[in-house]
Amino acid sequence: MNVPLLDLKAQFQSIRHEVLASIEDVCDEQGFVLGPRVERLEQDLGKYVGTGHAVGVASGSDALLLSLMALGVTPGDEILTVPFTFFSTAGVISRLQAIPVFVDIQAGSLNMDPEQLADRLTERTKAILPVHLFGQCAEMEKISYLAAERGVPVIEDACQAIGATRNGVRAGGLGTTGCFSFFPSKNLGGFGDGGLVTTHDANIADRLRALRVHGSRSDYHHHTIGMNSRLDALQAAVLQVKLAYLEQWTEKRRANAQAYERLFGEAGLLDVITLPVTDPANYHVYNQYTIRTPKRDQLSAYLTEQGIGNKIYYPVPLHLQECYQVLGYQKGQLPVSEQAAQEVLSLPIYSELTTEQIEYVVQTIKQFFVVSSPA
Ligand SMILES: *Cc1c(COP(=O)(O)O)cnc(C)c1O
Repeated sequence: MNVPLLDLKAQFQSIRHEVLASIEDVCDEQGFVLGPRVERLEQDLGKYVGTGHAVGVASGSDALLLSLMALGVTPGDEILTVPFTFFSTAGVISRLQAIPVFVDIQAGSLNMDPEQLADRLTERTKAILPVHLFGQCAEMEKISYLAAERGVPVIEDACQAIGATRNGVRAGGLGTTGCFSFFPSKNLGGFGDGGLVTTHDANIADRLRALRVHGSRSDYHHHTIGMNSRLDALQAAVLQVKLAYLEQWTEKRRANAQAYERLFGEAGLLDVITLPVTDPANYHVYNQYTIRTPKRDQLSAYLTEQGIGNKIYYPVPLHLQECYQVLGYQKGQLPVSEQAAQEVLSLPIYSELTTEQIEYVVQTIKQFFVVSSPA
């Protein structure tokens, strides 16, 4: 049996006619950049996230970059973030010549550890940038409390967490700004790159709207120096169709996660692998279903051999990346992130996965452990 890590073709088949009709409309209209379709999507997503304001941009990375710009981040400012995330989270900080300051994660949730945050706050701290990794929110109330004490904003990297909630509040509505990605592998994925920033603050939304069009509020009058980072009408047309299905797709991901949990338990594997840990305050949307085992590399190779898609998110924590040697971090300095990077393995979790496929994944993992460590 073949089980890909993600099967976008299966998702497309289920909505093919609707998506193609929507794309055809854009072709007939010949309006491609921003415009009424993007505005409608912004309104719908602003409502969905619960912030009112939402600003479409060219990618999740740009959503983060534009948030930092809108909040006035300048060279030398320190931005507190995590090392166990996609590179983009820290890369955008460096692009503004600001400094990423890495705070270690919690072993369970794999999100920013608020207990370690207080120690890293300095006079130069300009913002806190937690990530809602794999589809569940960081401990935002503790993070926001420390941020408020210091009077610094919180930028949520919610790129993997659209629809996730913490204590009933949706990701993207918990901080000063929320950053989303429509990269095809995200839970709401477009047909290419795309992104969105959400905010409760009308002034920040206004700044974001100017910054994404070269800092201009009226044609050819530039108030600040911005960039070109806009969402295309074609992407908005695809995303608008998909948004109507997001809730049901998310429920299916959650049901798949439950099936894994039950089957791993029945297979007696819970003492050799660690399943994802969900904080009870969180509604987890499982952009990734990530298990942990010290035999990760061998298990990954075995699954690949058996036709099961799997991937290591992420093999090298950011403080140990070659490009960040200049920051001067040492191995062992952020041990929870470093150990996670050696043990994590993401398994197929996408909505169209069948029960048979999930059973096959679990049985194959069981086989691996029987062969690799006979009783
Ligand atoms: C996908 C992702 C991004 C960047 O999104 P792009 O749209 O690919 O630029 C940033 N942070 C995290 C955690 C992501 O998963």
